[in-house]
Amino acid sequence: MRPIRATIDLAAVRANLAVVRARAPGARVWAVCKANAYGHGLARFVPVILTADGLALLEIESAIALRQAGNTQPILMLEGAFDAPELADCAKYNLSLVVHSHEQVRMIVSARPAKPLSVFLKFNSGMNRLGFHAAGLRAAVSTLQGHANIASLALMTHFADADGEPGVADAFARFNAASAGMNLRATLANSAAILRYPQTHREWVRPGIMLYGCSPLPDQTAESIGLQPVMTLKSRLIAVRDLAAGDRVGYGGTFAAERPMRVGVVACGYADGYPRHAPGTREHGTPVLIDGVRTRTVGRVSMDMLIVDLAPVPAANVGSEVTLWGEGLSADEVATAAGTVSYELLCALAARVPVDVIDGNST
Ligand SMILES: *Cc1c(COP(=O)(O)O)cnc(C)c1O
Repeated sequence: MRPIRATIDLAAVRANLAVVRARAPGARVWAVCKANAYGHGLARFVPVILTADGLALLEIESAIALRQAGNTQPILMLEGAFDAPELADCAKYNLSLVVHSHEQVRMIVSARPAKPLSVFLKFNSGMNRLGFHAAGLRAAVSTLQGHANIASLALMTHFADADGEPGVADAFARFNAASAGMNLRATLANSAAILRYPQTHREWVRPGIMLYGCSPLPDQTAESIGLQPVMTLKSRLIAVRDLAAGDRVGYGGTFAAERPMRVGVVACGYADGYPRHAPGTREHGTPVLIDGVRTRTVGRVSMDMLIVDLAPVPAANVGSEVTLWGEGLSADEVATAAGTVSYELLCALAARVPVDVIDGNST
């Protein structure tokens, strides 16, 4: 077997949920677990998050699978129903749903759901992806409030800039203006807003990345927020070699040794989910741990392998342990070096990587 493995630490999920609770003490928590729980495996993640107040995702087949496995938590479908049969399933399986368009409002009004639906009307606060503008929100509320197909009505928005420099002031003001006088409950805050904007917590918060132990904020590390990495991706060196000055490594020879140096070949490549664009030039490498010692990648990442500089770890040899991200090396840091975000690294973990589940230090 190739030596690459991912470890998922359930104790870290619990600890991260406790951080969410501490930072948003008055709010209920929708644990966001779309995209197969950000690549961690929904079936592994959900049993440890049963103390969340609900689950939020957007793939109906995942929601139905949870119900069929006996899960009775509230579930919120983040993009609502994609068609009429899906709307029927939302009623049948007791799934709350976001309604973000007039088409979806019409679908609800003309449906005959098995049970009245629990709906979150989505306001477009500036992302310009999904959601109603102010007038459309008012129209949707007046159509749906008190309608026989509606069991409960609440509001939602998703901030475009909770993690960035502009912040949420403008979006939050727009939401407050659009919803003034409606007297409806609301869910606004993702992880970044949970941490930076307590005024947006309202009745429910929607943490995703925090639960997986990564930082949503560019200027704060996960560790400084008290978050623990849930996924650790490890492999081993499968070859070591000595380069002479001028020798190049990897496809395209994008890295050339300036002087004699020792490099190691790691059994991990982009087909495992490691980002192919992680730099390995002379000026910029991507951080990696060999036997716990920090070093960097050299050359291009290939499908099944990548190459690392062994200068800081002279004792390293074939079989030495390599940490690509997780415990001891934040996925945020690797993502930043590779010009992406930790979300993408976690979600991209490939199906071919075997996963071990641990609970703290005990397997
Ligand atoms: C993914 C998602 C979230 C969670 O965002 P994080 O940045 O991971 O906390 C919250 N709300 C919506 C609508 C989402 O799509």
